[in-house]
Amino acid sequence: MEHQELADLISETKKTLLHLQTLGVEEVQLPVRGSETATREAVTTQPPSHPQTTVSTAIRAKSVAPEPPPPPRLLDSLFGDLGPSPEKLEQSSETFDQIHMDIGDCTRCPLHRERKTIVHTEGNRKARLMFVGEAPGADEDIQARPFVGRAGQLLTKIIEAIGLKREEVLIGNVNRCRPPGNRPPTPEEASMCKPFLLREIAVVQPEVIVVLGNTAMKNLLDTREGITKLRGSFQEYKGIKVMPTFHPAYLLRDPSKKRETWEDLKTVRAHLDSTADMK
Ligand code: URA
Repeated sequence: MEHQELADLISETKKTLLHLQTLGVEEVQLPVRGSETATREAVTTQPPSHPQTTVSTAIRAKSVAPEPPPPPRLLDSLFGDLGPSPEKLEQSSETFDQIHMDIGDCTRCPLHRERKTIVHTEGNRKARLMFVGEAPGADEDIQARPFVGRAGQLLTKIIEAIGLKREEVLIGNVNRCRPPGNRPPTPEEASMCKPFLLREIAVVQPEVIVVLGNTAMKNLLDTREGITKLRGSFQEYKGIKVMPTFHPAYLLRDPSKKRETWEDLKTVRAHLDSTADMK
């Protein structure tokens, strides 16, 4: 027998014996060629859970074809972390002015036709916390400022409820022009405008972004889930924590959802507190 064959045989035998051991077999009798009676070459093992296994059991166990040993479990990777490393947002050296100049008197999507103003992101450009909504409404369209209508006033209260001032955070929208009748922007309209928001996020690099409602959430996160499912637990956008929660306009229509929103914002506050010293 070739050396390699012998090594394979020994290896297979060892595996089989170990498997038998797990089944409770303590001894295996090996017949010796040319001998009438089997010479007992006992392979003795002592599994604690089957102390009473006898020789005859062992012989019976031998006559039943042993199951092949289970294939070795392959680890996903040496340290369990195989896969592409998550994309991190690169710090941008642009300024908001440059981004807004680039937007200019925008006519990239049909929303420009009925808008009065372009509503840019506003607030603290070193903010640790950012809020992102859907698109301006009528009041925002007139004042050229995000979240200044009824929903905006509720957002201001929410911000203050977690101990911050409106000026301390950053507030923006996926779209900067008001959709007629306050309808949600279409995916095409959103895809024209969103890159400017993403450039602002890359400049500010907030620690947490609160996405308000489905439109904002789906534009920032690659998800098919709805806000009701994802709200309250941190998601991620390129290394930035994202908290989905209900849109304040929805809270005006269904105030019973304020309790969950409050829970979500408390989670955000707790996270900011826990990382405050690291800044
Ligand atoms: N709703 C939004 O999503 N954004 C605003 O700026 C105002 C209302």
